[in-house]
Amino acid sequence: MAALTEFLSHLYTVTIVFFTLLRLEVEILMRPITGGVCNSETRLIIKAQYLKLIEEMDPTIRYSRRSSRPTQVEQCTVCLAELEEGEKVRKLKCKHSFHKDCLDKWLQQQYWATCPLCRTKVLPDEIVANYHRLQNQVDYDESSDEDMIFLLFALHGNSLHRL
Ligand SMILES: [Zn+2]
Ligand SMILES: [Zn+2]
Repeated sequence: MAALTEFLSHLYTVTIVFFTLLRLEVEILMRPITGGVCNSETRLIIKAQYLKLIEEMDPTIRYSRRSSRPTQVEQCTVCLAELEEGEKVRKLKCKHSFHKDCLDKWLQQQYWATCPLCRTKVLPDEIVANYHRLQNQVDYDESSDEDMIFLLFALHGNSLHRL
């Protein structure tokens, strides 16, 4: 009888272990699918916030030759094309103008967000560093709400500072 009880309790333990492992395995298998979707969404949110901040700092304008120096042809030094009348451009604080899309791409690729021509800072270093850190972190599925809150706080704090 004692042997039977022992056998049953052993069987019970083995069953529990088996199902725990099975559950873990299912979770691990499911993670890349659910995590992948979540990651790209998080990445888009982070990117959208970053672009919103750029927009806040240097709003998109329609290029007009009349409002800039009329004698000089202005060129977007990112794509090396001339700025055309009515194109979407950003004029930075340093007075350099670039296509909106060219500049946004540039600011996302560079480790520090600076003017492509004169290297004047466009965004504070800590925000750019945090943006890159979050973008990389999303790859490793380690992003946390805390980081998101920090970025949102940085964005919010920055716009408050400017008011
Ligand atoms: Zn361009
Ligand atoms: Zn510049």
